Amino acid sequence: MVQDGNQRAAKDKHNEADQALVQLRETPRAGCEAGEERCDVCRGDEVEEEEGEEEEGEEEGIEETEAAEADKSEGEEMRRAFEQQQRERQAPQQTLTQHRQQEFGDVEWLRRQLAQWANRCGVCEGAGEGSSAHNVRQCWRVESRQVKETIKAIEEEIKFDKWTGCWWCGVPQEICHRWESNGRRGYQRAKAGNCQYRGVLMGALIGIALGYREIGSQWHGRLQAVGVDDAGLGRSVVEYLGKKRVLETVESNQLVGEFCWITRLLAE
Ligand SMILES: [Zn+2]
Ligand SMILES: [Zn+2]
Ligand SMILES: [Zn+2]
Repeated sequence: MVQDGNQRAAKDKHNEADQALVQLRETPRAGCEAGEERCDVCRGDEVEEEEGEEEEGEEEGIEETEAAEADKSEGEEMRRAFEQQQRERQAPQQTLTQHRQQEFGDVEWLRRQLAQWANRCGVCEGAGEGSSAHNVRQCWRVESRQVKETIKAIEEEIKFDKWTGCWWCGVPQEICHRWESNGRRGYQRAKAGNCQYRGVLMGALIGIALGYREIGSQWHGRLQAVGVDDAGLGRSVVEYLGKKRVLETVESNQLVGEFCWITRLLAE
C-alpha cells in the first residue's frame, strides 16, 4: 500500500477538521468524541460490525494515523453498509421526507436547494432567527465564527473523486455554470462561466449540522453508521464527502448527497 508524506499530512488535517466537527457539535448524542476512549455505544457498533465481517478482525485496533490506509475495499464496505442502512430506513417509515422525495427528484431538489441556500444561513435559522437573507459565510453572528473555520478546514482538504461533478465547487456539471455540454455526452469548460454556487453546498451542510443541534446529532449518527464520523474507526468526514455518489443518473458526490439529505430533513 502506497502512502507518502503528503497523504499523511493531509490525513492529519482531515483529523483536525473531524475534531472541529465533533467538538462543535456538543450534542448529547450517543457516541464518543475524537481522542476519547470509545464509549459503549461506539463499542457496541464495532461488535455488530465484527459479527457481520469475518476478515476484518484487526479493525478495532486501528488508530487515527493508520486510518490513512483506508483503501478501495474499505470504500466498498462503506458503500455496502450505507446502502443497507438506506434500505432499512426506507422500509418502515412513510415520512414527509419521502413524500418530498417523490415530489421532487434528487436533481430537482438539489437545484432548488442550491438556489435557496445561496442566501440562507443555518446558524441564524438554527438560532430561531427565521429567514436569514444571507449565507453562513456572510454571517455576523458570533457562533458562526467556528462554523466558518470548520467549513474552511474541510474545504482546504476536500478532494472530489474523478467524474463526480465540478472539482472546484462540487456541484454536478450539468448545474455548475463553469461547464457546458461538449455536444456529445460530456462537459467542457464554459468560456466565461463560473461556479455560481461555489461554497453553497458545504456552507449549508455544515451550517445546518452545527446550527441545528438535533439535526446535527442525526447527521452524526448517520455518518457513524457508515463508519465515517469516529476518528478511531479510520475514515474522515472529509474523505467521505469527496467520494462518488450518483444522484439519479447524474455523476455526483457525497457532499451533494449529504446536502440533499440534510436539507430534506430540515424541510420536514
Ligand atoms: Zn464514538
Ligand atoms: Zn447567519
Ligand atoms: Zn463549479
